[in-house]
Amino acid sequence: MQTNYAFFQGQIVPIEQAKVSVMTHALHYGTACFGGIRAYWNEQQEQLYIFRLEDHIKRFLSSASLLLMNLPYSAEQLRAAVVELLRCEGQRNDMYVRPLAYKADHKIGVLLHDMIDEVTIFATPFGRYVANEEGASVCVSSWRRVDDNAIPARGKIAGAYVNSSLVKSEALMDGYDEAIVLDEYGHASEGSAANIFMVRDGQLITPPVSANILEGITRRTVMELAAADLGIRVEEREIDRTELYVCDELFFCGTGVQVASITAVDRRPVGAGVMGPITNAIRNLYFDVVRGNVERYRSWNTPVFDHA
Ligand code: PMP
Repeated sequence: MQTNYAFFQGQIVPIEQAKVSVMTHALHYGTACFGGIRAYWNEQQEQLYIFRLEDHIKRFLSSASLLLMNLPYSAEQLRAAVVELLRCEGQRNDMYVRPLAYKADHKIGVLLHDMIDEVTIFATPFGRYVANEEGASVCVSSWRRVDDNAIPARGKIAGAYVNSSLVKSEALMDGYDEAIVLDEYGHASEGSAANIFMVRDGQLITPPVSANILEGITRRTVMELAAADLGIRVEEREIDRTELYVCDELFFCGTGVQVASITAVDRRPVGAGVMGPITNAIRNLYFDVVRGNVERYRSWNTPVFDHA
């Protein structure tokens, strides 16, 4: 990875200096939480725009509070650290930023309270997360999505990503691009690291926040863009497995996957088996918005470089 610096113990240091002990609590028990933020390079404006930085930091802090963390940094300090880190990296490229808050104690014992909590952040150039964004072939996973009463599903909790990794590896090893995971009640929850939307009769449908989903920032973005700019009604409700087989369009959305069309589920074609018009329209608008090309959404784009 082309990463030169990290925010570590309160300052930006060369990446080689950002090291933790093998005794670190988070390494043993998954007692960490993270964020995933993209920054998009705008060639015309020669600017790197971080997408919805404020919302990402806000969710990062709520994940941390689910783990009873007392982080030594404010939201403002974390936002400033992300901007400064990207400035130091100096890349004129699309970037991915990974903040991680972790239980830094060197102690044996499963608990969350009265511990040392630390934050590190690094950034790396990043392209596609799913190879086939225009037409992913997915399965319904044999694994179930982690339940909110087992590990908080609405937080990006490191340990819970064992669940996501089981889902993703099963799908890839079976020849699919991704998977859709059902929750404990058998309803479609999300992908391994992305939310899902279904189109039926011209309407967008996505599982509610009570379906053990991560409350995705891209999901919220898609809901806002669909309603405000494309005039498409969005409903939050449970989705049955077999609706995935009979719907007109299906797509994933997330910071990593961006907006990725799903064209087959369990080898059955979705709709006509190619990316549908609503997915296509949302995808195009999304890419314009994240890159800082849509004036009315510019409050979502934090510039990194100072052109003054
Ligand atoms: N669900 C899971 C499990 C994820 O890891 C992600 C990626 N952060 C998402 C959904 C999508 O969330 P967001 O749009 O905020 O990136």
